[in-house]
Parts: sequence; structure tokens; C-alpha cells
Amino acid sequence: MPSYTAPVRDMQFILHELLKIDRHNEVLAGFSEATPDTVAAILEGAAQLSQELLQPLNRVGDREGCRLDNDRVVTPTGFKEAYRAVVDGGWTGLTGHQEHGGQGLPYVLGLAVSEMMASANMAFSMYAGLTSGAIEAIEIGGTEEQKALYLPKMVSGQWTGTMNLTEAHCGTDLGLLRTKAEPQADGSYRITGSKIFISSGEHDLAENIIHLVLARIPGGPDGVKGISLFIVSKFLVDPDGGLGERNAVSCGSIEEKMGIHGNSTCVMNYDGATGYLIGEAHQGLKTMFIMMNAARLGVAVQGLSQAEAAYQNAVVYCRERAQGRSLRGPKFPDRPADPIIVHPDIRRMLMTVKVFKEGARALAYWAGLTVDIIRKHPESETRRKAEDLLGLLTPVMKAYFTDMGFNAANLCLQCFGGHGYIAEWGMEQFVRDARITQIYEGANGIQALDLIGRKLPAHKGRAIQLFFGVAGEFCEKYRDNASLSPFVKPLAGALEQLVDATRWLMRHAISDPDNGGAASMDYLYMMALVALGYQWAQVARICQNQLSNPDDDSFDRRFYQNKLVCATFFMEKVLPETTAHLAKLKAGADSLMTLPADAF
Ligand SMILES: Cc1cc2nc3c(=O)[nH]c(=O)nc-3n(C[C@H](O)[C@H](O)[C@H](O)COP(=O)(O)OP(=O)(O)OC[C@H]3O[C@@H](n4cnc5c(N)ncnc54)[C@H](O)[C@@H]3O)c2cc1C
Repeated sequence: MPSYTAPVRDMQFILHELLKIDRHNEVLAGFSEATPDTVAAILEGAAQLSQELLQPLNRVGDREGCRLDNDRVVTPTGFKEAYRAVVDGGWTGLTGHQEHGGQGLPYVLGLAVSEMMASANMAFSMYAGLTSGAIEAIEIGGTEEQKALYLPKMVSGQWTGTMNLTEAHCGTDLGLLRTKAEPQADGSYRITGSKIFISSGEHDLAENIIHLVLARIPGGPDGVKGISLFIVSKFLVDPDGGLGERNAVSCGSIEEKMGIHGNSTCVMNYDGATGYLIGEAHQGLKTMFIMMNAARLGVAVQGLSQAEAAYQNAVVYCRERAQGRSLRGPKFPDRPADPIIVHPDIRRMLMTVKVFKEGARALAYWAGLTVDIIRKHPESETRRKAEDLLGLLTPVMKAYFTDMGFNAANLCLQCFGGHGYIAEWGMEQFVRDARITQIYEGANGIQALDLIGRKLPAHKGRAIQLFFGVAGEFCEKYRDNASLSPFVKPLAGALEQLVDATRWLMRHAISDPDNGGAASMDYLYMMALVALGYQWAQVARICQNQLSNPDDDSFDRRFYQNKLVCATFFMEKVLPETTAHLAKLKAGADSLMTLPADAF
């Protein structure tokens, strides 16, 4: 049976030593309340909930899945009670606005909590996770009345939320969307159409479900410019917030799928359902895209979460499973064989996953802090820079963390040999569950196109120049520091390659857009590697400082020494991948695009 222990120590290190969240106490609302003691209590509380309640339900959810009973979806055994415990514990409102009943704590802290819940039980965590996205959309585009009517109950977890974009003929290309929204005399809309693949679309965990639905108002512009966003609740809501009649929206079926069986993925039928416009007509995609940036960061963290959970179980196995002897001679001569953790290839797999998940956690939490700055900082220039950096790095994190999250789960399964392939060990569930993260919230290939097509050229490259500036200043500052040289030198080299790749794209993607498309994923990977390299170089600096000036008696020397080993591994064994990506990127599109379709 797999297990999970929340990596609270690493989370504390990132929040307090790397990000120094208390620096923001004076400026960002909610930060002064997040004292070290409060942060510790929240992380410990979330760890306990995740380890003791949610993790044991992960396999139950996988085995039982969700079941459609008439038009009711029944979630797996124990999910209802667990959801009640999450709501009663106030976890859904941790970072919500206080005016809507939330606790107003930092978003970055909420991200750590959501990582734990996703590691413990990703399918379960999506019921509340999707609600956060719907809350965000109502906050961005809703009227004051809509916010007052829906948000308090969504923040408290009494009601959940969904995002309804996809239709059978329309996934990536939302311009093809057909669901119709006809205006009614009372100002509402009649929503008709069918959505597929809707996560948490119907379930038995909450009293009401608030669907956010993309639809077309007849007579509006064609394509993406004619799409509007609507609130369609499962039960209509009275003006005083009470539940009214059942709305004409129902679950037609639930999908049989590869993983996340505990989350209901529904076909949702809208048969003249009553809906209410959010924001302006025909501007729905704009609101949806702002909201999706936060959701994409959430999916990036899902990738990381599956790497963490799979890794922990692989480490336990590799310490115990005895096969063969160490290449340097037996490590345990009194036993018939050495544990497989002595073998370099097993260590290659474990170290690859370890440096990915720890580096990704540092980068993701930095992004979480950036969300706090965007939402709460009083200076517009600081908010603008944070927005630029977050916009640039969101597709990078979404695609790289989820590709690597899947690879990591797969490497951890490999550590188990044949036992990893057998369901009993639980490793194949991590691989199956992780796989969806590469697809939803915009398939990873689309993230790469977003990066090079929208984020890079926006405002004449303002965001990428900012990114080069931040990482470049660090390299410049520590260029002559001999002890940091093993970290700063490779980072500076990779950064130079990224600058080179950016120039190549500027020259060649404009003359032939297929060059841009062909290069997009290599470019995204290069940026991810540089961003992670920057995190690891900062970690190395902090650890070297700590080791030369220990803080206090409880100083945890091994923690910092181990981090330095990981930083070294990243610089020596992972970051050099930028060289291959640069070569592939510069090879252009020709060999990719030449074969006619019938030659494949
Ligand atoms: C379990 C699950 C849960 C989901 N939850 C939700 C949900 O809650 N709400 C919701 O609205 N949707 C949801 N989805 C839908 C999901 O977001 C879509 O599946 C995804 O956006 C891809 O759309 P598609 O499946 O139609 O693939 P397509 O758009 O048909 O894409 C197929 C392939 O072509 C590539 N491609 C497409 N266009 C281009 C292009 N222009 N350039 C390069 N490559 C391209 C894609 O990257 C992909 O690899 C879910 C899906 C699943 C499986």
C-alpha cells in the first residue's frame, strides 16, 4: 500500500528561507497574520488531514470510481465524509477574501496546502480545486450582487464549482463552440447545448454546483470573439441565497477513463437551463483566460504532487528491495544481496525525480507569491512586473511540471521493476493519474505555442527581458564567488543559450511560423530548465551561508548539505539538456514538415 508524508520541512525552507515571506508583512494583506507559528500550524494540520484522511481514500477512489445513478453521481466510499471534514476544517476558505468569509491568508500558503492534498489524493482534491477556479472567474467578472450571492457559499465549500468549456467537436479551438445562450425578458439567458469532460460536473459532496459555462449569444460575432461566460447553477438560487428549483442541467453520463477515477468527469446537458451572464457579452474568453492562469499553476502543482507521492514510495522500496551487488563491492556482505538503492541507475532515477520536485516546488511557490503580489501590492509598477513574470512562466510551469510529473511517476514505477506494473503496489495509479495533467487546462503543446506566440512578443518582449534581467543579475552578482561557481557558471551558460534561442526565434519564426511551432517545446523546456537552475542556484547560496553561519542549536546540517548535493546534481546532470534543446530548436521545421500526411 502506498503511503505519503507531507514534505513540511522543505515547504518551510522555501517559504521562510528562500522566499522569506515575512518580508511582505507590511505591504501584502494577510501576510502579517501568517506568522511562522501560524504557517507551521497550517502546514502540520494540512499534513495530518492529507496523510490520515485523504491518502487512504486514494486507492478506494481509484478502484470504485464514480457511479451514475439516474442523474445523480455517487462518489466513492468515504469521499463525502472527507469532503465534510475539509469544509468543517475551514480548508476551502484558507486564502479566500475575508469579505466572502475566507481567512485571507497568503495564496502561496494555500498552494502548499493544495500540493499536499493533491499528493495524497489528486482525484478528491479536484472537487475543491475546480471550485477555486470558478470563484476566481466570478471575482474577476461578476457583479457585486453575483459575488454576494454565490461566493460566500463557494468559499465555505458548501457549494462547489466547475468550468465548462469543452464540447465534443471543440477542445483547443474554442472558436468552434456551439452552446447557445438566448436572452430572456427578465435579463437571464436560456442555455442549450452539451459539454463533455467536465470535471466534478455532478456529484454528491455539496448542496449545489455552480457551473461556469462558455456559450454563444445568437447574433454575436463568429469565432472566439462571440463567446460569453455564464453562471448556471444546479439548483436555482433565490435572491436571499436559499436553494430554489432544480435547473435544466443534468449529467448525461460519466466518462470511463485512464486515471483520476475518484473524480467525476461528466457529459453535462443544458436543456434550456437558466443562466446569468458574467462580465460583458462576447468577452467571456477574456475572463476565462485570466482565471485559467491560476488554474494552470494549480495543474502544474498537480504534476509536482504526483512526482512527490511516487518518489516517496520508490525510496522506501529501493532501500528495502535487495538485488545484486554494489559495483564497488558488497555494501551488506552479511546479506545475500544489496538494496537496489546502491545501484547508480536506480540513483539516476531517484535523483532526477528528487531535484525536479524540489526545484519545481521552489519555482511554483515563487509563482504563488507572485500571485499575492499581483492581487495585493499597492504599487502598480510592482504588480505589473509580477504579472509579466507570472504570465511568462505559467505556460512553462504547466507544461514542464506536468510532463516531468508524468515522467517522474514513470521513473518511480521503474524502480519497482515488475512490481511497479502490478496494481497492488499503487505505483501504476500515480502514472495513470499524472497523465491527465499534460492534457487538461490546455494541452502542453498549446502551452508552448502560448509561450512563443503570445507571451514572448507581448509588449515588445517586456516579460522575457525582465526574466533575463532577474536571472542575469543573480549571475552577475555572484560571478566572482568561488564557492558558488559550480552553480552560477552553468546557470549563466544556460541563460546565454536561452538568449541565443530567443534571438533565433525572433529571426526565424517570423519568416516561417512553422519554425516557431517546431521550436516551441524545445524553447519552453529551455526556459523551464533555466528557471529551475535559477532556483537551485539560490538554494545553493542559502545552504552555503547556513552551513558557514549556523542559525541556532537546532541547526539541521544534513538538510542543507543534502540540498547542496541536489543543486550540484541539477547543474551537472539536468541543466546541460539545454544544449540539446538549442540544437534541435535551431534545426528548424524542415525535417518535421516535409513528409506528406499520407507518408506517416
Ligand atoms: C479527465 C478530463 C477532465 C477534463 N476536465 C475539463 C473540465 O473540467 N472542463 C473543460 O471544459 N474541459 C475539461 N477537459 C477537456 C480538456 O481540457 C481538453 O481535452 C483539452 O483542452 C484538449 O482538447 P481536446 O481533447 O479536444 O483535444 P484537441 O483540441 O482535439 O487536440 C488534440 C491534439 O492536437 C493538439 N493541437 C490542437 N490544436 C493545435 C494547434 N493549433 N497547434 C498545435 N497543436 C494543436 C493538442 O495539443 C492535442 O495534442 C477534461 C478532459 C479530460 C480528459
